[in-house]
Amino acid sequence: MRNSEVAGETFSNRLAQVEESIAAACRHAGRTRESVQLMAVSKTHPADAIAEAVAAGVTLFGENRVQEFQQKAQELEQLGIQNAEVHLIGHLQSNKTGKAAEIFAGVDTVDSLRLAERLQDAAARLGKTLPVLLEIKLSEEEAKTGLSPESEETRTLLERLPELTALKMRGLMTVAPLTGGETGTRDCFRRLRKLRDAWSAAYPRLNFEELSMGMSGDFAIAIEEGSTCVRIGTALFGKREMR
Ligand SMILES: *Cc1c(COP(=O)(O)O)cnc(C)c1O
Repeated sequence: MRNSEVAGETFSNRLAQVEESIAAACRHAGRTRESVQLMAVSKTHPADAIAEAVAAGVTLFGENRVQEFQQKAQELEQLGIQNAEVHLIGHLQSNKTGKAAEIFAGVDTVDSLRLAERLQDAAARLGKTLPVLLEIKLSEEEAKTGLSPESEETRTLLERLPELTALKMRGLMTVAPLTGGETGTRDCFRRLRKLRDAWSAAYPRLNFEELSMGMSGDFAIAIEEGSTCVRIGTALFGKREMR
């Protein structure tokens, strides 16, 4: 018995619960269910868990390590799973951009100009257009990665993105602070949405359609604040082992 099956709960049960909560949050916010995508965050869980989720109808996944997913991608192929769209949602080191551009359907955590340029080169070499999100750091927490909204680097990146033609800019992503409670979380998500509105006006050549925000503990708030993609791990797959 896997961790995801404790107390007789199956993946399908958990998915149904999450779906119900997403639908309730959408109703509460006056939004359609179709306006929010569910990304299942499968990091630390085996390829089998992804296969089970695919069988239950999930199509979009998030993984946070290149090497870990490289292994799972092979296992998924052996299992005959082809319709899983997997994005990178963890910090990417510049020396792994080649592999990342090859195995992921999107990189949702572009957090520096240098990384964007490396990914551009890697995707161009593969003859591929790579969908990307910019990860924005809106909290002062040391551990957080992401671009500072006001920095010179961010401005340069936003100006350069139209020339990085192997990258398909799709929007912004953030992780709420661990502390600060519901107010801090809501404030963070609201700031990302306002940044998106301001940047869409200032950089009309770029696409800012996607707002990836919200995890197991805060996705309802994220949906109320305009999230278009909630990244849910624990509520779907159960607790992760410490690494
Ligand atoms: C792990 C992770 C998630 C999922 O977190 P849960 O709290 O387990 O839902 C979402 N986004 C990112 C960037 C993550 O690293």
